Amino acid sequence: MVAQGFVVDLNKPLVFQVGHLGEAYQEWVHQPIVCKEGPRFFESDFWEFLTLTAWWVIPLIWLPVVCWSISMSLRMGHTLPQVAVMVVSGIFIWTFLEYTLHRFLFHIKTKSYWGNTIHYLLHGCHHKHPMDGLRLVFPPAATAILCVPFWNLVQVMSTPSVAPAVFGGGLLGYVMYDVTHYYLHHGQPTSQVPRNLKKYHLNHHFRIQNKGFGITSSLWDKVFGTLPRSKSAEKSK
Ligand SMILES: [Zn+2]
Ligand SMILES: [Zn+2]
Ligand SMILES: [Zn+2]
Repeated sequence: MVAQGFVVDLNKPLVFQVGHLGEAYQEWVHQPIVCKEGPRFFESDFWEFLTLTAWWVIPLIWLPVVCWSISMSLRMGHTLPQVAVMVVSGIFIWTFLEYTLHRFLFHIKTKSYWGNTIHYLLHGCHHKHPMDGLRLVFPPAATAILCVPFWNLVQVMSTPSVAPAVFGGGLLGYVMYDVTHYYLHHGQPTSQVPRNLKKYHLNHHFRIQNKGFGITSSLWDKVFGTLPRSKSAEKSK
């Protein structure tokens, strides 16, 4: 059973502790600790190592797969303009996935031991330590697993020669998302668009965590009504 008033010891590995928080987990995980140094996840050095991913690993591993997939549709006889449309469609599908995964899967409310533990590994850790630079992008092994249902979905929605380019576009959208997400936390943007995106995302972390799920754009937040109110609108309310 859940120990009443369980306290997490931040100096010990966290992953197998957070489950004991039970219903108190949601509140705990949404109280961020802003510190560049990340927490220890596991006792074992091997498992600990597997939880660390540098941001540049994402384009390094996935961009070749993107190129290969896109070129497959070209090799199957489609023209460059046709393939361009497929890639853009793939990116568009990704933006929808980015929003729905973040809103409904990454922010699923858990309270059981394993529910909390899995949520922590998936997204909770990023809300607890938003500046932990090695636990911000998605570990490639996890992405590879998620690629399987995505590939199946794309295949159902298109034809054999169209599917590779749409899949490549979706994967490209994912790479842009993860790199953008890293940049929003660790970069110092000077131009207007990225500055606004950074503000938008930090708002999701530090002000209203149940709004502003879009990372690369606010499009789907507008469509589904989860756009956070601006500070000035809140004051005049
Ligand atoms: Zn989030
Ligand atoms: Zn959250
Ligand atoms: Zn973030």
